[in-house]
Amino acid sequence: MLIVRFWGVRGSIPTPGPATVKVGGNTSCVEVRCGKDLVIFDAGTGIRLLGNQLLREMPVTAHLLFSHVHWDHIQGFPFFVPAFIPGNTFRLYGQKNVTGTISETLAGQMNYPSFPVGLADMGATFHFHDLQEGQVVELPGGGRIRNARLNHPNDGVPKTGWGHSTNEEAARVALAVGAKRLVLFHHDPTQNDEAVEAKETGARAIFPDAVAAREGLVIEL
Ligand SMILES: [Zn+2]
Repeated sequence: MLIVRFWGVRGSIPTPGPATVKVGGNTSCVEVRCGKDLVIFDAGTGIRLLGNQLLREMPVTAHLLFSHVHWDHIQGFPFFVPAFIPGNTFRLYGQKNVTGTISETLAGQMNYPSFPVGLADMGATFHFHDLQEGQVVELPGGGRIRNARLNHPNDGVPKTGWGHSTNEEAARVALAVGAKRLVLFHHDPTQNDEAVEAKETGARAIFPDAVAAREGLVIEL
């Protein structure tokens, strides 16, 4: 069984405040429990809250996969407390891109003078893996994760004139491929709680088992 928990569901930039309090304002981070294995997808600001929770189950061993390295997917990593604690082990996976490896990218955002502590000063043990497209990560407990190319919306680019909304497009794809469930995720920072609910309603009109991810949402598969 897989247990999926959403710690950050926002794209581009954190959006705290009363208008987004129901959906949540932290950027991308999803925890997946696959038997005894802990897999974390993305290190947006939501990973700070996950890290605080993980302090109850030390020592922590986890696999951390980066979908890509836009800021909203890496910016929480310097605030992920378990990564500072010796005895914890993290396997970090990303795809080598034009500017460097995942290790170089994570170190870059912590370089002086942007941040007071460097990646090399974090106390946990890190194993970095640069994945090729289609490569499979085998988890110790038998789970498998396949790396695939991502079609990511361009954060911050005006989306008018596309002719159809991305939520309805996603719902049509879910219907066409016979998906069991669709989770809308990486909400635009301009969308308040009402806008996300409207997006969810719009998707459900096409694909009934659609849900908009909210911080704290847990899905068992
Ligand atoms: Zn993003």
